[in-house]
Amino acid sequence: MSEPIPPMDHPLPPNLTAQERESFRWEAAHAALDGLPGGGMNLAWEAVRRHSIGAAPERIALVWLARDGRRIELSYRELDRLISRFASAVTALGLERGDRVFLLCDRVPELYVAALGTLLAGGVVCPLFSAFGPEPVRVRMEVGDGRFLVTTPGLYRRKVAPVRDELPTLEHVLLVAEAGEVCGLLHGQPGPIRKPAEGHDFTGLLAGASESFGCAPTTADDMALLHFTSGTTGKPKGAVHVHGAGVWHHRSAMYALDLQPGDIFWCTADPGWVTGTSYGILAPLLHGLTSIVDEGEFDPTRWYDILGRERVTVWYTAPTAIRLLMRSPVPVPQLPELRLAASVGEPLNPECVRWAVEHLGIPFHDTWWQSETGGILIANVRSEPLQPGAMGKALPGIEAAVTKRHGDTIEVLESGEGELAIRPGWPSMFRGYLHEEARYKACFVDGWYLAGDLARRDPDGTFWFVGRVDDVIKAAGHLIGPFEVESGLMEHEAVAEVAVIGKPDELAGNIVKAFVLLAPGYEPSPELERELRGFARKRLGAAVAPREIAFALDLPRTRSGKIMRRLLKARELGLPEGDTSTLETPA
Ligand code: ATP
Ligand code: MG
Repeated sequence: MSEPIPPMDHPLPPNLTAQERESFRWEAAHAALDGLPGGGMNLAWEAVRRHSIGAAPERIALVWLARDGRRIELSYRELDRLISRFASAVTALGLERGDRVFLLCDRVPELYVAALGTLLAGGVVCPLFSAFGPEPVRVRMEVGDGRFLVTTPGLYRRKVAPVRDELPTLEHVLLVAEAGEVCGLLHGQPGPIRKPAEGHDFTGLLAGASESFGCAPTTADDMALLHFTSGTTGKPKGAVHVHGAGVWHHRSAMYALDLQPGDIFWCTADPGWVTGTSYGILAPLLHGLTSIVDEGEFDPTRWYDILGRERVTVWYTAPTAIRLLMRSPVPVPQLPELRLAASVGEPLNPECVRWAVEHLGIPFHDTWWQSETGGILIANVRSEPLQPGAMGKALPGIEAAVTKRHGDTIEVLESGEGELAIRPGWPSMFRGYLHEEARYKACFVDGWYLAGDLARRDPDGTFWFVGRVDDVIKAAGHLIGPFEVESGLMEHEAVAEVAVIGKPDELAGNIVKAFVLLAPGYEPSPELERELRGFARKRLGAAVAPREIAFALDLPRTRSGKIMRRLLKARELGLPEGDTSTLETPA
């Protein structure tokens, strides 16, 4: 275990004091948002309208960086005008409260306008990842009973047209012909005349819609978002979230991401995954901040350039991207404005944290949460010491524990290893897996929500990720968490990435097998394999170190960057691969 990193010297006051931990009150978290005049709650009202009619209409809400180099700023007032047009347009088409609006777009302004406009109109936002093929799109739209779809003509042709006949609930398709074109409406540019056979032209439709739209009278318990899980462990599930989740998007971002007035925030996740919505759209706007939206894909030069040029102060990204930056030859520039960097989605190896301290001057702060939790529940916060490799502590208001299940009862362990469980009741908790009531119910036992992850808890409340329940390895009487083995191997300079599985073995039950992706400049060889095994044995002990190491050219991962260990295992054993709809590069 490495030395804790003390909190950085900082001109800003601590974002979470011991007193705040002690005296946290839900009433205060709720009071940070306005609620609708006359009662109720609406995410778009809180994220956009209250700033646009309040003190900050001219503040920049979104900065859009197009692939082609265009840069468009939208103030809160401008964003409000566009989302009001969207809400007017879909309401005129017959959108009713609770209707599902699917979004299948790249990160373009129209996606953000449609998401927030849908919420304002009382619809439910269902973001998809634009790289999905027709079948994943069909399955999700079918589960979600999609009535509206916002997409581009090209994506429609390739991904929707082949399955349109199988989507009986889909009534209206809004086609975004030119990315960013909708922003022209703010400057009186006339809408284009297009009459697509498949549906409505997005800009044309909004050009004819009113800029004045009140707000649907939604309540905190109305469904607002439908998020499909990553499918890392099996078939993706549609997690239902409500408008009241905004209370926790706001509060968790304050604690875990240290959002402060004046911040420029960049969340690199695509809204197709929950991070890209909770923190890529909602949290920064709920705080009235400026949020960066980059249409481009991961590229070290582009990313460093954005961080520097846009003077990003808080950056939220994922371990896969961090590991790619670590092995990129592109030098890390000076980023004097960057105050906090955070990570989510996969275990964050201590090596990544130490790299950041050395190259960025600040660590990556790990944060743990899931599609189901709707927001960050466990994190390393800026004002507390950070232990590289730890996920941090439960945020105020969140009761998290490691547990052992005995049938219908749950034993809470004061320390040690067990299944991570959360006491239900935080505002962004999912309210169901759509159309899968039994699966939802099965997540709750004896008054706890069981997260499906294994963790270790120190007596002081610090949590360490061990592995997913499905990925943990039972070898010769030991329970081995893949993350520990992977992090041990990551310390070797030849290892760029690694994934570990249990391989059935007659004697031991399972043996630990590692798939290693080598760093630039290293070639697979029997000597290197032996060296890595010896290195791991020294670090981890013979019982935990991998018995087999294979060199891989790539690792199967989801489009959100999560390594799919279940696929490595299925391939190793020659078993069926199951649901691979979220796989990045299908075999
Ligand atoms: P599915 O449930 O469909 O298998 P998934 O669990 O990958 O997919 P998400 O909800 O996107 O879908 O991911 C949440 C999971 O990601 C967590 O349960 C955990 O396993 C992993 N995860 C998230 N953050 C962290 C973290 N900081 N450290 C370790 N693992 C994390
Ligand atoms: Mg999951």
